Amino acid sequence: MKVPNKVRVFCPTCKKHTEHTVELAKKRTRRSTAQGQRRFLRKMLGYGSFPKENPKGREKPTKKVDVRYKCTVCSKKHMRGKGFRIKKFELVRI
Ligand SMILES: [Zn+2]
Repeated sequence: MKVPNKVRVFCPTCKKHTEHTVELAKKRTRRSTAQGQRRFLRKMLGYGSFPKENPKGREKPTKKVDVRYKCTVCSKKHMRGKGFRIKKFELVRI
């Protein structure tokens, strides 16, 4: 899917439509003390069994893209929705 790298969308900070630059969010490095890991460590303490695995099904063929919009006026970044599933993401210069 081809996405323009500049769009005019609503900015929640400026509270009006402004020019935004589109970019993909950078992958962050995971901390070892993530919520899931802390829950797992707590479960493994003391008595009780190993936590059950989540039921496995068919894997999704695509990943969600994390698109961020940066306002050119206030230079704040924000998201629109939770992202969407596509095979190929391409930013097109206008
Ligand atoms: Zn703004």
